[in-house]
Amino acid sequence: MTIVRGVRIMAAPCCGAQYAFPRYVSMNFSAFEYWTDGWREYSLMPNDEGLRQCKCGQFVLTKDMVSIDKSEASNMDEDDSNDLPYMDHVPDQLLPECISKASSEDMEVAARLGYWRCLNHEYRERYRQHRDAEEAAIKSAWVAANPDRRTWWDKFLRRKPPEYRRPPNSPFTYPAFEPTDAQLQNMQRLSKVLFGRWEESRKGYVINLVDLYREQGRFDEAELVISAMDIKTDDVTGQLIRNRRGGSCYRLWHALVDEKRRVRVVT
Ligand SMILES: [Zn+2]
Repeated sequence: MTIVRGVRIMAAPCCGAQYAFPRYVSMNFSAFEYWTDGWREYSLMPNDEGLRQCKCGQFVLTKDMVSIDKSEASNMDEDDSNDLPYMDHVPDQLLPECISKASSEDMEVAARLGYWRCLNHEYRERYRQHRDAEEAAIKSAWVAANPDRRTWWDKFLRRKPPEYRRPPNSPFTYPAFEPTDAQLQNMQRLSKVLFGRWEESRKGYVINLVDLYREQGRFDEAELVISAMDIKTDDVTGQLIRNRRGGSCYRLWHALVDEKRRVRVVT
């Protein structure tokens, strides 16, 4: 469960403007859909890397905000810090500007990760439509092959109608992913920066790096990074990647997506 207790008051490094930030006591990262580029649909927690825009116009990373004060929920009523604004997330359309004006490599990475996911939304929608249509076709073929043949007597005895289960070995296809020039450029630069960090410390957005390579068709590099991965047991995406290392990298992403999307697609 996500629990917020009070706020933290933080000052922006650019102009000193003060903002309220929710104090998370616990966080719930569950979502309706998980995607291998890190996007979580209908997530209770923000999807971004802490990128914000100050009212003075500067882009800021929340990790660079300066802590001023805290206030607990118990005295929220008498607390005037509630009047402070929350900080605006950077809207998608400003991400290219944020990339070009980034004041640090961390900010560039945050903006490019956001831009990467934003540019993938169009594919997400095509993917959903394609998968939903295929699942609907499989289900209607099953219904046609398994009609409800209960007699009035069966119904009187409350026998249940045949219950749909997705037949094993049903087709599982997806639309082709063909990145645009803008997507490619962004992915090339982002994977270059993230690879530099990975080489140095084996840390930082490693799963994202694998997915960036995969989306660019650079499977050998993706495999190289996967093979050196140290995956925590509570990391769902990481576990899925590791368990599928034997499979081809191209299939990996789609398998991952649907492994997690099963709640939505295959019910
Ligand atoms: Zn400012």
